[in-house]
Amino acid sequence: MGIELTGVDPFTMGSSSMSVADRLFGIVPTNPISSLAKGDVLPIIFFSILLGIGIILGGEKTKALGDVFSAAAEAVLKIAHMVMQMAPYGVLSLIAWVAGTMGLSALQNLFVLTVILYVGCLVHIIFVYGGLIRFIARLPLSNFFKGILDAQAVAYSTSSSSATLPVTLQCVQDNLGVKKTVASSVLPLGATINMDGTALYLGIVALFSAQIFGVELTFADYLLIAMTATLTSIGTAGIPSASLFLLATVLSVIGISDAQTALIVGFVLPFDRILDMARTVVNISGDATVSVLVAKSEGEINETEYRNESVI
Ligand code: ASP
Repeated sequence: MGIELTGVDPFTMGSSSMSVADRLFGIVPTNPISSLAKGDVLPIIFFSILLGIGIILGGEKTKALGDVFSAAAEAVLKIAHMVMQMAPYGVLSLIAWVAGTMGLSALQNLFVLTVILYVGCLVHIIFVYGGLIRFIARLPLSNFFKGILDAQAVAYSTSSSSATLPVTLQCVQDNLGVKKTVASSVLPLGATINMDGTALYLGIVALFSAQIFGVELTFADYLLIAMTATLTSIGTAGIPSASLFLLATVLSVIGISDAQTALIVGFVLPFDRILDMARTVVNISGDATVSVLVAKSEGEINETEYRNESVI
């Protein structure tokens, strides 16, 4: 890629010697507490999903535990917001560091990465979401895209699915005719776990990193990247730049060390906002798509409202 990353430990380069089966079994934690202590993100996400299912199935009996986790998540989001207040200064310093230490060719490579991500996001929105709305929900596409435009604009400017949630709810209910019962259950869940744009981004950065560090990828590696990126995206919070800090999880499955990941994060971080804007638009568009599909299948959509789209 034309980027010289010095100080990289040559012994950690290349694919990890663990077999695909070992890496897959490694996702299932034998001891979740030890995974937490070691910071093994995938086993933690796996255990969290199971625990979340347990809490939902437990109903009233486990509600208190669910409330504790919701409150803890809220507190962590507040901390993240405080940290992000420093972001502009950090970004300025990092751009200066990238330009100064790696030269302008590094910036060109980041430009290519940005273009690839934007094209990928556009293709995903038009073909995957568009295809689902057109062929599965059998509804006109133009109304869908016009109806969620406000939410997409807010997602693009805030880079946060969570912050966009009120607008997504409003667009989906008022412009697409999705009934409140479906919108208010599907969208909050989607803003937390449905992040295709994030998965796409993690996958693209993983390929970018593999090229930088000369890691030869096999077909199994591609599958592992797709699976890990999807799992990691489920565990990503709907706030700016959240997934960049979970990159290590995806990169570790192709044998990229923590030190190498730190270099990549430092390299991408200054430009992450512009990448985040695009992936957040995909994330909220996916949530809107799913809410229309669920509403359609449950007969909870007012099609006249959908077709006559009244702008909020
Ligand atoms: N900013 C993204 C969102 O809120 C998450 C991420 O990929 O960093 O949806």
